Amino acid sequence: MTQAIDTTQKQLSPTFTKLVSKEGGIEYEPKALYVCEETFSPLEVSYDYEAIKARVSRASIEAGPKSIWRYKPFLPVATDNVIDVGTGMTPLVKSTRLARRLGLKNLYIKNDAVNMPTLSFKDRVVSVALSRARELGFSTVSCASTGNLANSTAAIAAHAGLDCCVFIPADLEAGKVLGTLIYNPTVMAVNGNYDQVNRLCSEVANTYGWGFVNINLRPYYSEGSKTLGFEVAEQLGWQLPDVVVSPIASGSLYTKIRKGFQEFVKVGLVDDKPVQFHGAQAEGCSPVAQAFREGRDFITPVKPNTIAKSIAIGNPADGSYAVEQARETGGSIEAVNDAEIIEGIKLLAETEGIFTETAGGTTIAVLKKLAEAGKIDPDATTVAYITGNGLKTQEAVQGHIGEPLTIEPKLGSFEQALERARTLERLDWQPTSV
Ligand SMILES: *Cc1c(COP(=O)(O)O)cnc(C)c1O
Repeated sequence: MTQAIDTTQKQLSPTFTKLVSKEGGIEYEPKALYVCEETFSPLEVSYDYEAIKARVSRASIEAGPKSIWRYKPFLPVATDNVIDVGTGMTPLVKSTRLARRLGLKNLYIKNDAVNMPTLSFKDRVVSVALSRARELGFSTVSCASTGNLANSTAAIAAHAGLDCCVFIPADLEAGKVLGTLIYNPTVMAVNGNYDQVNRLCSEVANTYGWGFVNINLRPYYSEGSKTLGFEVAEQLGWQLPDVVVSPIASGSLYTKIRKGFQEFVKVGLVDDKPVQFHGAQAEGCSPVAQAFREGRDFITPVKPNTIAKSIAIGNPADGSYAVEQARETGGSIEAVNDAEIIEGIKLLAETEGIFTETAGGTTIAVLKKLAEAGKIDPDATTVAYITGNGLKTQEAVQGHIGEPLTIEPKLGSFEQALERARTLERLDWQPTSV
């Protein structure tokens, strides 16, 4: 008689066992649930921090995979069978030229424009959500997306062999639509804005039994954003920054970066210190910035009208928590207009060689505004989060950048063009004399 091998023995028990409502602390089983039936507040994953503390050290993390899964004890996936497509551990770049331009001495860019596999921070939340979706037995996964989420969900579902149907607003940028279709999911382009897409998806989630990464799997999904806090702390040499600037759509990313920092403090991986959180929104969709400015703690929904489509959520789920966080940490939530967003995209590209999308342009424009207003201490260790790639939102900068100088394959034609370039002040190159 052969003895059955218990493969589960090799797996350590999970460090999370339940969901808890953000208000009232009511407990739920860790299933595909997202809202508390009694308080109507969102559900969050609850961890056993003593168990995490016993399991992790700086050395154990440093010896882990070069992806978000080096932080696995802090993530809500029970088995070791995670979907690891190399998401995370993106560069933290020490800025020199942008820093000088803004008068800051310790500025860093966290560059998720090169995240894997689809070049935005959404790969983090989807890697976690789909790993959990598989554990919970879902065979079809879905999302309500402003663009990047559809790219990530379609790509990672393809990798994992899950069926996929995504919902997007019909007026998205071409790069975002193509960057979803290539993975061959079913794409529903809804004639409406994101908030209408999201409402439709809530109905579908209730009737079809699909795993919607940002609806019924939202408690797991949102935990993925904490890795943007973990990585920055690790990459700064196991310490927290002084100032953070991040974009705000639903407010999930902005609040989860802080949760990541706090968890590292809780288990003794970094020392505690105050971190100021600044949030960035586009004026054409700035319900959180408006609430902050007017001293309200509730959000008044708006109808989005901005080129920053990836962060155009008019009725943000975590908006009031974001306002609270800005106040509590001595930060702020600022809005910038579309022209400033385009300038922000160009400024980051010209000074750091990083091409970001409209959300990153929003972040850089807000960083610039804060720096120019003297609201950031020049010596403070400041991290600006760049969350997506500019090649996906080319429409935003078309007509605002230079054009190639078309020439004939002849030296004379080149020299004429060079003269023109000089008058345009695009080149200060001088021919060396022979
Ligand atoms: C989704 C998204 C965000 C913000 O997301 P939250 O809903 O606030 O978590 C920021 N930047 C980009 C590029 C995004 O796609």
